[in-house]
Amino acid sequence: MATSTNLGFPRIGAKRELKWAVEAYWAGKIDEQELQQRAAAIRRTHWTLQRKAGIAHIPSNDFSFYDQILDTSVMVGAIPERYEAPEGEVSLDTYFAMGRGRTATEERPGVSAMEMTKWFDTNYHYIVPEINRSQIFSLRSTKPVAEFLEAKELGLHTRPVLVGPVTYLLLSKSDDPSFDPLVLLEGLVDVYENILKRLAEAGADWVQMDEPALSLTLSDKQRSAFGRAYARLVAAVPGLNLLVAVYFGDLRQNTKAALAMPVHALHVDLARGRADLENILAKLGEGVSLSLGLVDGRNIWKTDLEDAIATARRASSVLGNDRILIAPSCSLLHSPVDLDNETNLDDEMKSWLAFAKQKVEEVAIITRAVNGESARITNALSANAAAMASRRTSTRIHNPDVKERSAAVTPAMAQRTSPYPERRKAQQQVLRLPTYPTTTIGSFPQTPEIRRARASRNRGELTTEEYEQFIREEIERSVRFQEQTGLDVLVHGEPERNDMVEYFGEQLDGYVSTANGWVQSYGSRAVKPPIIFGDLHRPAPMTVEWISYAQSLTRQPVKGMLTGPVTMLQWSFVRDDQPRSETCRQLALVIRDEVCDLERAGIRVIQVDEPAIREGLPLRHEDWDAYLEWAVDCFRIATSGVEDRTQMHTHMCYAAYDDIIDAVAAMDADVISMENSRSDGTLLDTFRVHPYPNEVGPGVYDIHSPRVAETEEMSDLLRRAVAVIPPERLWVNPDCGLKTRRWEEVKPSLLNMVDAAKELRGQS
Ligand code: GLN
Ligand code: ZN
Repeated sequence: MATSTNLGFPRIGAKRELKWAVEAYWAGKIDEQELQQRAAAIRRTHWTLQRKAGIAHIPSNDFSFYDQILDTSVMVGAIPERYEAPEGEVSLDTYFAMGRGRTATEERPGVSAMEMTKWFDTNYHYIVPEINRSQIFSLRSTKPVAEFLEAKELGLHTRPVLVGPVTYLLLSKSDDPSFDPLVLLEGLVDVYENILKRLAEAGADWVQMDEPALSLTLSDKQRSAFGRAYARLVAAVPGLNLLVAVYFGDLRQNTKAALAMPVHALHVDLARGRADLENILAKLGEGVSLSLGLVDGRNIWKTDLEDAIATARRASSVLGNDRILIAPSCSLLHSPVDLDNETNLDDEMKSWLAFAKQKVEEVAIITRAVNGESARITNALSANAAAMASRRTSTRIHNPDVKERSAAVTPAMAQRTSPYPERRKAQQQVLRLPTYPTTTIGSFPQTPEIRRARASRNRGELTTEEYEQFIREEIERSVRFQEQTGLDVLVHGEPERNDMVEYFGEQLDGYVSTANGWVQSYGSRAVKPPIIFGDLHRPAPMTVEWISYAQSLTRQPVKGMLTGPVTMLQWSFVRDDQPRSETCRQLALVIRDEVCDLERAGIRVIQVDEPAIREGLPLRHEDWDAYLEWAVDCFRIATSGVEDRTQMHTHMCYAAYDDIIDAVAAMDADVISMENSRSDGTLLDTFRVHPYPNEVGPGVYDIHSPRVAETEEMSDLLRRAVAVIPPERLWVNPDCGLKTRRWEEVKPSLLNMVDAAKELRGQS
């Protein structure tokens, strides 16, 4: 018999119950006991739901109060000294301090959080383990055992999930760059042996070890670590079955290493590594089971069940049903929870989608089909076939005009009329900006009043007219403030935008927003990516009215503000029935039209934000060039429809750009603003080695901090920038948008910033 399994269920809860519980605890509104009770209720709901769906291997320890890597650091005792954790079990307070820092109180000093970074190529962020040469690992938390027993009490036999030791070490960081974390593998495996023994004693028969690092580019030495670690772990606990789960990519050069681990089962991601299957079937070790990741855990589309069942049958024809496990491609942590909670979506749209709950049902159906229980699933199969057919042909999805236009894009469309030096002259004539022009990145504080107004409009308490009047007043206030402050290129402040992607998605055909499609981003934070389901069409201009209104109020240039095609793609759920590059090109054309409309309306400066361009990079370096080629091309299509004298800006943040700086230059924006002030001058180092050919605004102050930026520090930073960027091409701006700040912080900071620019011009 094939076995139905799941690799992990989203822990946040269908209504973000975990977020509310954890935040209430942080705010002191509930105590630890209440928090634990609520967490247990969430776990019970998710376990029961999976059992009802027909999942045999239900995961446990996939729950976390903050992050599973942080849980692992606590489990193995990798607790940096600054948290001063006493021996023994780690308290919840220490745990949260590691995840999010702690502000100082009268009783005790504050402490900084550990670093957070993106989990592979997902939008989930994990807490980076901090380890060094002298790290001694020891078992400091038995959470996996406790959760296994908790489920057992409820009559549920679960499969505990652990982050594998090799992936854990490979994701860690140390302050010593020459330190190879794998020298600590033996000591870490000791602790894993310990926890596995305890799990076996508690009654576990399978344990899932997540080793997604096997989908990265690895050195021979790194690859060999897997065999070493798992030989020990398998030998240490006879009778316990280990499943190693690889996901987020194919195996490629790591195939041999993956197959050489002497474990009982290997999980592969067939959503992304389908091409590996035949090779694996041919080479899988005698008696080893194969977990087939057939249901895409990273997206929201219904699985093509006929296709998935055929793949499963193929695997079973080689291995036999007993050696087959059916699974989602990766943990469902990256899917929203339950499609049944969607009130925004009509029945047809819903018929195309599957969230986590629906995905475990799909796993169960595929398993039944492979096990020959067809009678029970005929209805489900025919409904699924109908949904697949309607997605292939629906006129809501397929718009021949859009496809035609996208196919007709010419290289000339990705090319401004003249090269930058000539455009610059034309722009100078129109804009007449001083040296070191000052500007901001787009958004101004999203005040409680703005959020309240939007909510009232959505509830129907405020008419559209009243709401728009409110926004106009907000824009006028921002414009006046910027004039008084002496900024050179103004913005309208983005008060009308809930989110820089959803705002545009809501106005485009082919895009749909969900009501509850939340996915954990980090800690208690979740994002709600809109869904690109069809060919993208812009029925009407999206921003022209607001920007023109702002421009009508002032003689200074107002910068039109748009989100770029790559960022739109990256922060949405994307249709899987055509290449991402094609969807991105459709987005590029839509933005291009908006850019041209803004120009026609008399807007002389337009910014197309691409903060997410770097995070779209594929996991393996050898795939980078192909991605960058189409990503840069799409940005250029979006921004090249204008005349020379229209100044095109872009903006990027969240990362170091050292390794893609050539691609950034190839985007050929007239001006780029980049996050810089937090990075200790790394951006300037980058520009020293790879001079940027056009104009640059390296951020002069950190917008993540409530602290008011001082003129001194900004002038210092600018003087350092002048050493690298020629003065005539240097802009002065903050690191990023100001929407998360308060006006009390923004006002003095921007005044100081303008002063710093004046000082540089020798005007003060
Ligand atoms: N224009 C956006 C803003 O100012 C840019 C945000 C971002 O880079 N993430 O908010
Ligand atoms: Zn930014």
